[in-house]
Amino acid sequence: MTLSITHLGSGSGGNATLLATAESRILIDCGFSGRQLERRLNLLEMKPPDLDAILISHHHSDHSKGALIANRRWGIPLMMNFETCAKLGLDPVNQCKLFEALDLIEMGPDLSILPVPVNHDGADNVGFIASHLGERAAVVTDLGSWSDELARHLKGCVHISIEANYDSNRLWNGPYPERLKQRIAGRGGHLSNRQTAELLSHVVTNHTRSVVLCHLSAQNNAPHIAESEVLHEIDDFFEGDISISTQEGPEFSHYLGQAEPERVPI
Ligand SMILES: [Zn+2]
Ligand SMILES: [Zn+2]
Repeated sequence: MTLSITHLGSGSGGNATLLATAESRILIDCGFSGRQLERRLNLLEMKPPDLDAILISHHHSDHSKGALIANRRWGIPLMMNFETCAKLGLDPVNQCKLFEALDLIEMGPDLSILPVPVNHDGADNVGFIASHLGERAAVVTDLGSWSDELARHLKGCVHISIEANYDSNRLWNGPYPERLKQRIAGRGGHLSNRQTAELLSHVVTNHTRSVVLCHLSAQNNAPHIAESEVLHEIDDFFEGDISISTQEGPEFSHYLGQAEPERVPI
């Protein structure tokens, strides 16, 4: 069994991504209620206690609101950095295990995770790069803007799950208040389709088998716009699969190295 990557749901209504190998099962972020987490894992024939740990990227509730419930109800260990722990009001000794950006975390014999720093909204946010038997998969959302350092970590990943939050025309001509538009489009907000396409054009290689666009805004984006904007930039050299993760997952699982995802039976 290789590494599988399954988005249980993605967007401002809640985020959680399951990474599973033969030996380890972890969740990246837990922005769903306990009941929702149970229901979504159940579709994969899993239960919350099957999880070894939940790693939190940052304190925003769409990534963290179910974490403490999962910890209390099922005893699942929580892992995050100190800043996120403090922002969530958790006890860094008794309620979570702390990690630091760029310190490799060994989750098991066939899975390690590297938290990488990203720009987003004030706290010490991270994205995650998973390594399995020498190959890597990235799960990076809520980026705001991207740095050369992030691009270096993404380059060569066999799988990349990345946010494509908004279409600039829809955002700027849409109904959001001006201040919110500025925040979303700012350095600490989210990536537009255009920014995501540009970043991917630097990091996707013919070694990349699958890309998942995540965290699409329901108000300011549409799957066909995000996909066509990204494909426009990478189509010449990308030979893998591109998929869109929606709020209502899990819909499909990617297996590291295999382009086509497998649909989750309903
Ligand atoms: Zn956020
Ligand atoms: Zn978010």
